[in-house]
Amino acid sequence: MSQLDQRIADTRATLERIARDFSPAVFASSLAAEDMVLADLILRARLPIRIFTLETGRLHKETLGMVDRIREKYGYDVELYKPDAAAVEGYVKANGLNAFYDSVDMRKECCRIRKVEPLNRALAGNKAWITGQRRAQSTTRSGLEVQENDEAHGMTKFNPLADWSEQDVWDYLRANEVPYNPLHDKGYPSIGCEPCTRAIQPGEDVRAGRWWWENPETKECGLHVVDGKLVRIKAVPAN
Ligand code: SF4
Repeated sequence: MSQLDQRIADTRATLERIARDFSPAVFASSLAAEDMVLADLILRARLPIRIFTLETGRLHKETLGMVDRIREKYGYDVELYKPDAAAVEGYVKANGLNAFYDSVDMRKECCRIRKVEPLNRALAGNKAWITGQRRAQSTTRSGLEVQENDEAHGMTKFNPLADWSEQDVWDYLRANEVPYNPLHDKGYPSIGCEPCTRAIQPGEDVRAGRWWWENPETKECGLHVVDGKLVRIKAVPAN
């Protein structure tokens, strides 16, 4: 068995275990390449795991288009969690539409309204949640475990692709003809909100295009926990 086949088998086993022992469980998908691997494994096996995405109101049209492509291929409707309209309106009115460029605090507040609060709503009432995070993605993810205790959300968090390489992800997607966000072919290995994501140059870190105006240690949006702490507490962390 190849190393990738072993990783696929391990990931399937993890997902089956989550469905069996951690129900109800949800998968927080950003609709990026890694998340399409997990969506494909979950939906082909018809595992009872809900899939949702945070529709921040600032996503690329290509990213939102993935919701339709998933519906077409798997007949599954990804659930969309949107920010509180009044909170968005208040932020924009007070600070402007793109205040996240002004300071880390402004960026964190925008992420809190558009991502963190909707995430908390999406996770409420579940025993576990799943992400497509990998250790190799960034300095803030090097200590990632497949299974973690997410104290902040009071549940177990699974990162079934923690030890997958980027090559593994793409080998899986191509071998299984899984649809993927077309932005990945345009220099976007990591995709977030449109105004906070840029294409990267060959040789740059895969997350260099996210919040590129901040330093690497701050690049988490508060959705994830590292070593038992919300990453954003450490400095000013992103998804
Ligand atoms: S990534 Fe940018 S636009 Fe999206 S929620 Fe965070 S600061 Fe706001």
